Amino acid sequence: MTLPPSDIRLEILGFAAAMERTMRKHDPEKGESWMYCDLEFLINKLKEEFEEVITSIDGEQSPKISKNTIDELVDLANIAMMLRYRGIFSGALA
Ligand SMILES: [Mg+2]
Repeated sequence: MTLPPSDIRLEILGFAAAMERTMRKHDPEKGESWMYCDLEFLINKLKEEFEEVITSIDGEQSPKISKNTIDELVDLANIAMMLRYRGIFSGALA
């Protein structure tokens, strides 16, 4: 099912925009290497980014979501997006 952008929740569009900003920041250095690198590299990166989210949350004095945690959540989402894309590209949904 394909959704027109107008049917996508603003919260999701905002998150996607944050993901895109982070991807663009890394483009000069990494480009589209995520499309062709070893899957194991991305899977390990997902685990690393998850740990960075947890470390950031645990580092807060009280339950709150800091700028650093938000950035780490976006990093995690980008790796998840890459793995989803690689899975679809390899026929996981066929
Ligand atoms: Mg990170």
